Amino acid sequence: MKTLLNNIDLNEALIGKSNIGFVPTMGSLHKGHISLIKKSLKRSKITVVSIFVNPKQFNNKMDFKKYPRNIKKDLNILKRLKVDFVFIPKTRDIFKSKNNIKIKLKKKEEILCARYRKGHFEGVIDVMTRLTKIVKPSKIFMGEKDFQQLLLVKKYIGNNYDSRIIPCKTIRDKNKVALSSRNFLLNKNELITAGKIAKKLISFKKKGSGKHDLKKILNIQKNKFNRLYNIRIEYLELRNKNNLKITNKIRNAKIFIAYYINNVRLIDNF
Ligand code: AMP
Repeated sequence: MKTLLNNIDLNEALIGKSNIGFVPTMGSLHKGHISLIKKSLKRSKITVVSIFVNPKQFNNKMDFKKYPRNIKKDLNILKRLKVDFVFIPKTRDIFKSKNNIKIKLKKKEEILCARYRKGHFEGVIDVMTRLTKIVKPSKIFMGEKDFQQLLLVKKYIGNNYDSRIIPCKTIRDKNKVALSSRNFLLNKNELITAGKIAKKLISFKKKGSGKHDLKKILNIQKNKFNRLYNIRIEYLELRNKNNLKITNKIRNAKIFIAYYINNVRLIDNF
């Protein structure tokens, strides 16, 4: 495995290489990331993993500051997996050139996380555009855990560059909590609460097909969660998984949730 710390070294290392699989991450790697990396290793000739905590996608300075960073452990994991290249750029290296494309989400896209984290997805699309231009991957492996991000990257990157976006299933722990780097910031009890919420929503989805006013029932569930646990729910909504429009039918739909537990923001979908 070769560690590359700037654009020039990465460009040099990738000269003449084809069938590149790319796994962009913000580090603090867990089994969710590892599943993406294994898929890339299987389906590409060369695998590049980037570790870059992108300041542009944080709408809250404190959130950026306390985002977990474990670079030493990450490098050991990547070495063990036999990744070809790990790219760990500096912020100034990524943002030194001007990005000519103006990124502005459409009004109808200002939903779910885009509604509550102003500028977040613009920051994600900006950095993904820059990384795609440097790495020039054939495939980019991304998790369904961040479903809205996946759809937006498909639209803004997959449709404009020669890179295919490959969706990868959400990996969960034994209590059904979606693995996330932010889970490192939670204590045991908070993880138990997150597990109860995940299990409830999985069962809600299973039982939902025969029910009528799902919007109303989901709202009742939201109030129950707020009452039972020490959390603050930003959204709990049923949406069509292709166009993210609000729906009342389980078919082709997903339940989307974002909530704060002890000031840590978690998202998931079922
Ligand atoms: P992050 O480091 O959180 O920016 O995530 C990097 C990539 O890993 C994104 O494509 C995420 O969707 C994906 N990812 C994060 N958590 C999981 C998970 N539990 N299962 C599958 N993919 C995940």
